[in-house]
This record gives sequence, C-alpha cells and structure tokens, in this order.
Amino acid sequence: MNQPELEAYLDEALPAEEMARIEDRLRREPELLAELAAINARRDAGVHSLGEIWRRHRLSCPPREQLGGLLLGTLPRAQAQYLRFHIDIVGCRLCQASLADLENQQAEAAEAVQTRRRRYFQSSAGYLNR
Ligand SMILES: [Zn+2]
Repeated sequence: MNQPELEAYLDEALPAEEMARIEDRLRREPELLAELAAINARRDAGVHSLGEIWRRHRLSCPPREQLGGLLLGTLPRAQAQYLRFHIDIVGCRLCQASLADLENQQAEAAEAVQTRRRRYFQSSAGYLNR
C-alpha cells in the first residue's frame, strides 16, 4: 500500500469499498497501522494519536478466544503481535480488562490443579505409611 492511499484513507476520501479493504488490512497488519500513524503524526494538523485513529475507524477488538490463545501462547505469531499491539500500544481498555479477567481464571484453574495434586499425594502417602 502506498502513502497517497493511506493519506486518502486518513482523509476518508476513498470509496467505501476501498476504505473497508484498507481497514481490513489495518486489522491484520500492525506495521501498516504504525505507518498510518506516522503519516498522521507528520501532518501539521495531525494531532491524532494512534488510539484516536483506532477508535475513529473502529478497528475491532479480537474475540475472547483469541485473548485466551494469547495467554496460552497458542496463537500464530502475526496474530499475537496484532493483539499485543492492540492491547499494549493502542491500549484498548476493553481488551485489557478481558485479558486480566482471563489471567485470573487461569490462575484459579492452576491453583485447583495443584490442590488436587496435593490431596492425591497426601492420600497416597497416607496409604503407603499404613
Ligand atoms: Zn480491544
């Protein structure tokens, strides 16, 4: 994608179809979004932050399963990068909250497993000592 195209996108001066196509690419390509933000920052009147661009164009939040995959480290690299970008750089509050929530759930689940293991060990030990 070339710069004039991105400039036109920022001006919302493209046909709807073209806008949608670029938005779709921005969702999948963090580098492209960063490039867009850089162009925006170079503009004299460009006072928009990356977060503003994001909100203005309503680049969508990833589904919750993807956030879960991010925690588990099971996502393809590009997708994980996109999510990190969305959460850490853009600073999406919604996804930050979901991620914290998922982290708590995982910690609780891990604790439950440990408790089960401990109980099992204790009961086996008791059995062996008899
Ligand atoms: Zn989000």
